[in-house]
Amino acid sequence: MPTAPSSKLAFHGTLASVQPRITLHRSFDQRHHSYLGYVLAIEGEIDGVQRTFTVAIGKAAQAKHGLQVGDTIKGATVPVRNPRTERAEFYKASGLQVLAKCEQADLTPPPWHGQPPELQVYRERGHRRLAAKTYDSKCSTCKWGCSMPVDITLDQWNPTKAKYRVETFCYGPLSCPSYAPGPTRKVLGRNGMSWEEEDSVDEEATSHRGPDD
Ligand code: SF4
Repeated sequence: MPTAPSSKLAFHGTLASVQPRITLHRSFDQRHHSYLGYVLAIEGEIDGVQRTFTVAIGKAAQAKHGLQVGDTIKGATVPVRNPRTERAEFYKASGLQVLAKCEQADLTPPPWHGQPPELQVYRERGHRRLAAKTYDSKCSTCKWGCSMPVDITLDQWNPTKAKYRVETFCYGPLSCPSYAPGPTRKVLGRNGMSWEEEDSVDEEATSHRGPDD
């Protein structure tokens, strides 16, 4: 009996970045995070097409393979169902194999290209907002950079009313010369009200770290 064709898309390629997969949930001046795993940017081939693409993996897969920029991998994956809540194009990766580990010594940072830490480390470090332009030009391959999908609950009494957007953050050393915060961010609430996230929020989130931590 013929086997059903797999609905998964085969991919292979070399890692251009490994960053945390973290979602930010906002409700006016309240926020919390979901620490989901990692996002791989891969220069290679997926479903027979050569291009750069992104695949989300879980923390167990990262712990097993210790992936970092420069590793060559292969596997299979599926398109994400809801692109508003994911930064990766694909997820549910399976059959992940490392074909070659990166042999090149880490470049002089920034950006930082070694193995990213466990998700708990990101949680403990806290983040600062990072200008979207700076993320795109200097930080998209850094293990301390994160492009987060954000869901905003507009009315806490009616959680079905939500908005979605993307925000970029830095978990890296406070002294990083590439860092630029960009404009403060505003969060919409009920009846057209809005709350501005001042610099003091970032200062509080990272005040336990020294300049080079
Ligand atoms: S600003 Fe942050 S994300 Fe960008 S290179 Fe520096 S440490 Fe990495």
